[in-house]
Amino acid sequence: MRHLAFVIISRLALGFIAAWLVSWLCVLTVNASESRYEVRGGVGDSSGAWSAHYWNPPGAAQAFSLRTRAPQVEDTVHGQHPETLLPSWSSALQPTREFTQGEQAIEQQLDQAFGWPRLALHTSMHRFDVSAPWVIPHGLLAPQAAENGLPRVYPLRPLWAGLVVNTLVYAAVIQFVLWAPGGLRRAIRAEAGCCPKCGRRLREASEGICPGCDQTSNTDVSAA
Ligand SMILES: [Zn+2]
Repeated sequence: MRHLAFVIISRLALGFIAAWLVSWLCVLTVNASESRYEVRGGVGDSSGAWSAHYWNPPGAAQAFSLRTRAPQVEDTVHGQHPETLLPSWSSALQPTREFTQGEQAIEQQLDQAFGWPRLALHTSMHRFDVSAPWVIPHGLLAPQAAENGLPRVYPLRPLWAGLVVNTLVYAAVIQFVLWAPGGLRRAIRAEAGCCPKCGRRLREASEGICPGCDQTSNTDVSAA
């Protein structure tokens, strides 16, 4: 019972670490310039404009938002409304405090999430000058930018539903990899009428008890 608890907890811990590492690996491997995964949209009126695009290839997602106070000549909508286009985890759904209070006339927000099979970690950044460096409150900036010129950031904030699913998936994979060599060997031995534990032939053994290791074998020795 104690052994089982140890196995479960250790596999979950390894699965959690693997889910985290795979998310970070996605930061480096996903091609950020794959525009075929992109959807765009925007709205504008006399109070300003808000446009966004969202990009969701396997292993990654990126949400970009641009708000300005520049009054638009006429009310416009193109593509999807940014509110429906952006994912629920995107910080860009809300303007920053600086923009809301009128301290800034323009605001760019960039949210990124990574992970496979589900998105598991995310990060948010913003800036108020399109040529300024991004402000990254939660995340570690990678030295190399992505193919599309946007920063690559190792995210630190969990998307819990995805992180739990990925942890379970990787825990199961790790358990299988650790079990497979021994499990396969035991199955082959049993199939050949041998003791699964030590490999000694059981034909002469009585009552399925292996004379080599005293283990009770599940093998039907009489059928061998
Ligand atoms: Zn044996």
